[in-house]
Amino acid sequence: MSKFRELIAIFREAARVVATKEAARKLTKAKYDAALAFNTIWTYDARSPIEARWMCPLCNSVHKFTGEITAFTGLQFPACCDIPEGHRQYKQHATPLGQR
Ligand SMILES: [Zn+2]
Repeated sequence: MSKFRELIAIFREAARVVATKEAARKLTKAKYDAALAFNTIWTYDARSPIEARWMCPLCNSVHKFTGEITAFTGLQFPACCDIPEGHRQYKQHATPLGQR
């Protein structure tokens, strides 16, 4: 293979890698945005703890709270993906409270 063709092949591979990373980034953002919209309604505006749900922003699984409510952080939710069990008050939990 000539040097020119090798260079073209390298550029094509680089473009493929960039496109793959961009597609993965868009999917991650779409999952996060879905969780943010869901959690805005069902994590904080739920009419009772019994109906409260939290959507994991990484896998979009929906969880009921653990049954535990603390004085400082409110409803506690189970662990999912790499998010540990606990409250869901910050933006990384795909909730609006962390945007302040
Ligand atoms: Zn998850």
